[in-house]
Amino acid sequence: MERIGIFGGTFNPPHIGHIQAAKQAMAALKLDRLILIPDNMAPHKALPPNSPTGWQRLDMLRLAVQDCPGIQVSDLELRREGVSYTVDTIAQLRQLHPKAKLYLLMGTDMFLCFQNWYHWKQILEDVTLGVFCRGASHEPAALEQKQTELKKLGAKVELVENEVVSISSTQMRRLLAFHCAEIFLPQGVGDYISRNGLYDVNAHWKQLPMEQLEQVVVRLLNPNRVAHVLGCRDTAVELAKHWGANTTDAARAGILHDITKALDGPLQLTLCAAHGTILNDFSRKYPKTLHALTGALVAERIFGENEAVVSAIRYHTTGKAAMNLLETIIYVADYMEPNRNFPGVEKLRHLAYTDLQSALRLGLEMTMEHLKRQGNALSPESKEALAYLSSHQTPV
Ligand code: FE
Ligand code: FE
Repeated sequence: MERIGIFGGTFNPPHIGHIQAAKQAMAALKLDRLILIPDNMAPHKALPPNSPTGWQRLDMLRLAVQDCPGIQVSDLELRREGVSYTVDTIAQLRQLHPKAKLYLLMGTDMFLCFQNWYHWKQILEDVTLGVFCRGASHEPAALEQKQTELKKLGAKVELVENEVVSISSTQMRRLLAFHCAEIFLPQGVGDYISRNGLYDVNAHWKQLPMEQLEQVVVRLLNPNRVAHVLGCRDTAVELAKHWGANTTDAARAGILHDITKALDGPLQLTLCAAHGTILNDFSRKYPKTLHALTGALVAERIFGENEAVVSAIRYHTTGKAAMNLLETIIYVADYMEPNRNFPGVEKLRHLAYTDLQSALRLGLEMTMEHLKRQGNALSPESKEALAYLSSHQTPV
């Protein structure tokens, strides 16, 4: 009996994580062939704005699997149009392959909420579920519990242990916008994306007017960071007006300061490597602190910002010795914008409008205390900033 795997998804864009998972499932489940099916419209989520068409996602997927024996791509859901329900896809495949043993592949996240799927019981009647156990993203206990639960309902489930390529399509779209996605793209897919100008790779984002800049930034941030970033921009502008700094630079540095924050530590390193940035020991040890450096890099190379803006972003987390007015404003605005809420924030807000250097110093000292409590080291730049302020200023 032929064993056929079905692996559906949005594939927006397809990346090496998909291909690796497909190959491993193929081997582990001893499949004769595996059919990848890009959805026309996923039932559970809308496509982000500026996404390629379904047929472009299909083209990319074809390129991605061109050297993978046994793996093929189907346009079945695209041709069917409308919302792509798995139950309909399985019914169509069953007609085409009446005698085959069908395996429906899915990640652990989808498996754990399987009972929310449209007509899930009907799906279980016709297929075996092949579940990718992607690393430690879900507790093995939760998976086993779900497996037992579904088996009691007559489900056939096989868990496939696969190595993890820790990348999601959401992160892929950020990496593409930051021009550093290359290493995660299957051969041919990167060229297709640039040829067709997909995912903002050919976008002209240099010196965008503020309204457009805001739209792009909101698209690249984690949704839960948007309020902070807009708050930082508005606070930076207020402080710039108060202290006589350039308000345009303040607004642009404020809105861009956390532009790469959604990338985790390893992806921060990927961005640095792709742009040829050499890192010091501290950055390598604490890659999460790199978002200030990578943010500055992106502000300069992707958004074409001026030196003052780039430098304010570069030092917004650590500070440095002898900070200029804009650098100080962004550091302080980041700390005190209206969404910040911690003991001492009111004092900082007061100082920001009466004695900016003391506000900076208070921020640096609070950071030092916070890092100490967490058992983390203070960056060399912060140490230099504090030493500089001690020798140039009376204590707060
Ligand atoms: Fe930050
Ligand atoms: Fe911030």
